[in-house]
Amino acid sequence: MSETDRSRRRVLAGLGLAGLAASVGCEPRQPAASAEVRAWDHSADVVIAGSGAAAISAAIEARAAGAEVLVLERLPKLGGSSAMSGGVCYLGGGTPLQKALGFEDSVEAMHDFIVAAGGLHPRLDKIALYCEASLEHFQWMVDHGVRYIPKFSQEKELPYDDSSLYYSGCELAHPWRDIARPAPRGHVPAVMGHTGGRAMMEALLAAAQAAGVKMMTAVSCERLVREGDGRVTGIQFTANGVTKSARARRGVVLACGGFIHNREMVRRYAPELYECSTPWANAGDLGIGIQMGMGAGAAAVRMHQGFAILPVYPPERVIKGIVVNARAQRFIAEDSYYACIGHETAYTQHGKAFLVTDADCSYDPGDFRMPLLAEAESIGELEAKGGFVAGTLAHTVATYNAAAARGEDPLLHKHPKFLAPLATAPLRLYELDVTRAFCCSHTFGGLETTVDSQVLDVFGSVIPGLYAAGRTTAGLPTAPYIASGISVGDCTFFGRRAGRHAARETA
Ligand SMILES: Cc1cc2nc3c(=O)[nH]c(=O)nc-3n(C[C@H](O)[C@H](O)[C@H](O)COP(=O)(O)OP(=O)(O)OC[C@H]3O[C@@H](n4cnc5c(N)ncnc54)[C@H](O)[C@@H]3O)c2cc1C
Repeated sequence: MSETDRSRRRVLAGLGLAGLAASVGCEPRQPAASAEVRAWDHSADVVIAGSGAAAISAAIEARAAGAEVLVLERLPKLGGSSAMSGGVCYLGGGTPLQKALGFEDSVEAMHDFIVAAGGLHPRLDKIALYCEASLEHFQWMVDHGVRYIPKFSQEKELPYDDSSLYYSGCELAHPWRDIARPAPRGHVPAVMGHTGGRAMMEALLAAAQAAGVKMMTAVSCERLVREGDGRVTGIQFTANGVTKSARARRGVVLACGGFIHNREMVRRYAPELYECSTPWANAGDLGIGIQMGMGAGAAAVRMHQGFAILPVYPPERVIKGIVVNARAQRFIAEDSYYACIGHETAYTQHGKAFLVTDADCSYDPGDFRMPLLAEAESIGELEAKGGFVAGTLAHTVATYNAAAARGEDPLLHKHPKFLAPLATAPLRLYELDVTRAFCCSHTFGGLETTVDSQVLDVFGSVIPGLYAAGRTTAGLPTAPYIASGISVGDCTFFGRRAGRHAARETA
């Protein structure tokens, strides 16, 4: 280790971030044999690794089913990425909030939207169950202290005020608006300033603590403990550098989040996400839960998929611009959810795209999310400054403008309210290059689980005693990600099922 490395580590350790400096590697983690465990330092019916939305939902339900529950969190603070999030939970089928605000919705419409707009070959069993149980899940969130108020936001973005309902994804964009009757399904805790995740986790953590869930922080789970017959019966963790063992009489739940901060793992499994400029999750998102599951023989699937957001909006006026690729061709309707724009750019356009605006739809000066590449008085000049092949951008803009003047977009069907010819100078070209623009990402791939969150091995058999939920699993979120709230919805809903099922396991 060089002197620079040593001093960097000292600084990180001083900041309490020593765990980040130490590489956790990429490899599956071989479980310890129970015979190796000399003594159990702790024991509970259900032991849960992690303390985000998936873990705490599991803890609450396991406790409600009568189990003694121990939560182990790697970081000094509880809540995970869930507490950093907007707290948006994707719910529908006619929730009390939707009804109070006059929106009609049905289980079928919600189901059809998720199935049609998401990635290929999704887990239909999970989607069906999630949609059918959506009303019950809404009520569970409310019963556990998550507060929503009947206030709707028109914004095409997570409300900054305390509104609790909005269109959080692609519901109104083509072709989804014609495939499934649109309804706003983004349910947000009623707090100001994008702090819904914190409010949600404060409520769930308080409910878990009141129910008697035991929690330990600054302890990092490292390896599962397994019997000779393959049953998982505990977990080993480090506390202040000392290895300890916790016995799980009924089950272990892995809910350690995803792996966006394990850069080697991201490079190996999800190279497109590796390119994205801004890894977006809490510091514990290191893939250790996935590694522990894989070491016990679990299948890890959809590991290349994730959330790549290019937040071109807000402001909404920017949607009147056009997004083109390096050949100056449009490839996605600009009113698509920004994670769809990010996904298409990262995965199908080699990470490079551009946004063309005119004076009426540019960003405000000083908004540096998307680097400004060129400014010009005419499209020809902008095309030359942007390095496009002569005539290509001019052709795209002329075709777009002619149709937009008629209120049409025959190529990509952007909603008419965002259509206007790009004509007023100065014209501007912004870079939507995933390495240079603000492009945030996290991972969707993880352990394969049943609808009861039991972990499956590579042969499709249940690994006895092992459960997983949230971004440690491959759940409802698939790429392209079609709406905010599907991740938190998946974490809380399938976390609950993990806790309930684990609590019922015979010791
Ligand atoms: C800024 C931001 C906004 C977002 N907004 C939304 C939104 O509004 N709606 C939505 O659906 N999604 C949103 N997401 C995504 C969503 O927050 C996450 O996908 C989701 O919260 C993950 O929950 P989880 O329970 O799986 O993991 P987490 O909430 O990350 O919890 C995992 C916990 O496990 C701990 N851990 C990791 N390894 C170990 C170990 N070895 N031992 C013990 N503990 C360990 C971690 O430290 C962490 O605390 C957002 C993400 C970000 C970053």
